[in-house]
Amino acid sequence: MTVAMNDLSTVRPATRDFLGNEHKNFINGDWRPAIGGKTLAVIDPATGETVSRVADSDAADVNAAVGAARRAFEQRQWQQMKPAARERLLHRLADLMEANIDVLAELESIDNGKSVAVARAVDLPCAIDCLRFMAGMPSKLNGSTLKPSVPFLPDAELFAYANHVPVGVVGAIVPWNFPTLLLTWKIAPALAAGCTVVLKPAEETPLTALFVAKLATEAGFPPGVFNVVTGYGHTAGAAISSHPGIDKVTFTGSTEVGRLILQAATGNLKKVTLELGGKSPAIVMPDADLDIAIPGAASGIFFNHGQVCTAGSRLFVHKSRFDKVVEGIADIARNMKVGPGLHPDTDIGPLVSKVQQDRVCAYIASGRESGAEIIAGGDTPGGGGYFVNPTVFVNTRPDMKIVREEIFGPVLVASPYDDIEDVIAQANDTPYGLGASIWSRDVSMVHRLAPRIRAGTVWVNCHNVIDAALPFGGFKESGWGRENGIDAVKAFTETQTVVLSL
Ligand code: NAP
Ligand code: MG
Repeated sequence: MTVAMNDLSTVRPATRDFLGNEHKNFINGDWRPAIGGKTLAVIDPATGETVSRVADSDAADVNAAVGAARRAFEQRQWQQMKPAARERLLHRLADLMEANIDVLAELESIDNGKSVAVARAVDLPCAIDCLRFMAGMPSKLNGSTLKPSVPFLPDAELFAYANHVPVGVVGAIVPWNFPTLLLTWKIAPALAAGCTVVLKPAEETPLTALFVAKLATEAGFPPGVFNVVTGYGHTAGAAISSHPGIDKVTFTGSTEVGRLILQAATGNLKKVTLELGGKSPAIVMPDADLDIAIPGAASGIFFNHGQVCTAGSRLFVHKSRFDKVVEGIADIARNMKVGPGLHPDTDIGPLVSKVQQDRVCAYIASGRESGAEIIAGGDTPGGGGYFVNPTVFVNTRPDMKIVREEIFGPVLVASPYDDIEDVIAQANDTPYGLGASIWSRDVSMVHRLAPRIRAGTVWVNCHNVIDAALPFGGFKESGWGRENGIDAVKAFTETQTVVLSL
């Protein structure tokens, strides 16, 4: 199969103009080149060509951004801004993103490789929703009043209250799979809580974060409240996680880097939220409606080319339905259109980088070498981009690398199971615990099964359904803390108790 080229001449003039710029960091409301003068290439993964350049920052740039964020945090303008005024700022940013949604979707598609139609229908609307959801929070961030008893002060008349106050300067580090969406999962609750932010987008996908920074200025955020520093994880990212002037790091990425972030955070014991990897099970029960389960499980693994932390990458099907389900998913895989993100017919775009393509292909080779059987895909369509055909493995064993490790590509491993205890054991046989799906019409069975799956989100007859209102995060090595939902904003606060002797 050959794939068409990404045709950049088809994009909007505003998208082309933005790509044409050499981008700087956004610090204290200004655009500043990296202090070391270095830049790095922004690559279109559909072609491997350079489409733009951004600052290649290091510790000095992070330091400047943290200084700006600290000053902004301490300024009366931000500290004393009424909750309703912070709400209006977040709503304005959401409105500006909506007004620019087509340009943002094109930039996301060109930078990440994903289909522009998907970015336009899923990534951007969910990002805008997240801003609007969190925009409602500042005025509702209430604490509690308390009447202490204090045994050693029997005669004292005491009154106390506990307030949520912003944690301070937040460092946000995000991956490349949903660049704009995951950016909003960080900045929306942090800004709603009254924090200031230094954000580092992934090296592979910096463009939409810079575009959002431009919009934040238009929305009227005071200088220094939101800063963007582009560059590599081992330089700019590491400088954020170890910086003594940062009070909290919120990170989404791999479990491996999550551990490095934790170690770096010990210096000033900064607070840490981690959203990490996954190897999520999709469980098809004997009574499942296969007209829903087959396309649903296929979408659970192939959406965003499998580059989803909750991808349903391990499929367990009751042995009575195994052949039918697996053949149905393989058939969908074989018929998916692999192509560039800007092409309207594309189902599966390129993976984000050559590194990611090589990594996924190495997993496919490992699966083949260890004796698993490929019934769809297993190869690349060729061409200059970083494409991998959607792949389905059967005849796998629980000890195989393809079954144990997160592949983060369009690769499904499928196994049959005998009974409910067998599938619970297999589903939980992983160090991860981010997501899971159960496909069944038996409501009572679903309710009995869900709490026995060790995962932060369990979907029933659906997969990868996320929403700003739904708490999201991982058990086990999939992370620390939760994002989204009404409590997410509290993760960016400290509780302060005030005790009065009357
Ligand atoms: P990654 O390598 O961990 O990178 C994530 C971010 O961390 C990038 O911005 C990266 O920088 C930065 N980074 C790398 N090394 C660092 C260091 N030493 N110190 C500080 N920052 C550092 O992950 P990825 O490969 O981009 O993303 C895929 C992973 O993210 C998968 O494991 C996936 O499951 C996970 N993920 C989890 C969730 C979730 O919510 N749980 C959501 C999406 C993805 P550069 O890449 O720019 O150099
Ligand atoms: Mg890119």
